[in-house]
Amino acid sequence: MQFKDCFDFSEPLSLYIHIPFCKSKCSYCAFYSKPCAKSFEISDYTERILSEIRSLTNEMGGRPFYTAYIGGGNPGVLSVEQLGGIAEEVCKNGRPVEFSVEMNPESISYGHFRLFENFFTRLSMGVQSLNERALKFLGRNSSLKETLKGLELSQELRNKTGCALNYDIISCLPEWHGTDNDIVKIVRDYAPEHISLYALTLEEGTPLFLQKPDLPDDDRQAVMLSEYRELLDELGYEHYEVSNYAKRTGAPAQNILAEQNKSEKNTNRCLHNSVYWSYKQYAGIGASAASTGFKGSKAYRIEASSDSRNWKYSVNELGYTEKLEEFVLMGLRQKAGLSLERLKKEFGKRLCPEKLMPAGYAIKGDYLVPEEEGFLTADNAAIVVLDNIEDRANCTD
Ligand code: SF4
Repeated sequence: MQFKDCFDFSEPLSLYIHIPFCKSKCSYCAFYSKPCAKSFEISDYTERILSEIRSLTNEMGGRPFYTAYIGGGNPGVLSVEQLGGIAEEVCKNGRPVEFSVEMNPESISYGHFRLFENFFTRLSMGVQSLNERALKFLGRNSSLKETLKGLELSQELRNKTGCALNYDIISCLPEWHGTDNDIVKIVRDYAPEHISLYALTLEEGTPLFLQKPDLPDDDRQAVMLSEYRELLDELGYEHYEVSNYAKRTGAPAQNILAEQNKSEKNTNRCLHNSVYWSYKQYAGIGASAASTGFKGSKAYRIEASSDSRNWKYSVNELGYTEKLEEFVLMGLRQKAGLSLERLKKEFGKRLCPEKLMPAGYAIKGDYLVPEEEGFLTADNAAIVVLDNIEDRANCTD
């Protein structure tokens, strides 16, 4: 089955483009990314990406992508012309409602500004920390000085083009480092619309894993993440997904219906990532990119091989159980919660009231939603839900 045949082009389609190149390799990184690629390799890669975008836009009957996201790697490794060429192709049928690009602080330049005036609506920057020792510990390519310069430039970019800013921050480093200082400084000095806060994990085979640093254990990590959550709440950021915080834009939603509608408008949440969490279709192109496609009653998971010179797509049709598991897992990760209505309609399942409820979650209207820190146990909650849902016919109410 061909890649293109996995999507319903009459429905909104989001696009993810993976750029697997970086200036150097960070010590903790287990993603597929290639440091110091040759310029001919980057330009060949760009050409293939352009042709794949064209082949999708040709199917879309003149409609634009719903959202688009260029991630990596570090897309800032491409020249402004290469990045601009890709952005222009994505916008051939119109500008997506949200168009993000990732860039590391040392990569952003004044040359990129015109791309934000014409195409991008959002910059996602891998800041990670404002502590020189932490940046070195993580093996980041940019020094603190370069990081601060990138942050200043991103502020100018926002003032000039009105784009939204996301900054990535890594937490749960060794004890000598306090992520709370990073959070306070970043919010106070740069007020991003969005923050992605991750816990550092030691991935097997990475240089950091081999160093065996003394990192907080799982219990300590849970306490730390919960403290950062409280801090960000006080600073005006809503926790709307396990690792993601959006600057509040107005009064809190009064009811669950308003909460659901917030994902679409009047919010600083990342609409593109919300497509993944809401289990809607998106095409992912480029080496190691993943896609989810829906066509008729069928669902597909498509994975591209990790080969920047000649990636190939492998298509797997998802069975009922795989679809159900993905739907439940994604739904429980977000504040908007798991739609019990979709659980009924699309899967014929009910979460019976007499059954065990996952800790930290409650039923509100037609949704199973996390309360306070329910997010921090989303994976466990998914196991409980999957163990306790039943066919609709077996429920007593
Ligand atoms: S910049 Fe990102 S993708 Fe590249 S090596 Fe560092 S963590 Fe990995």
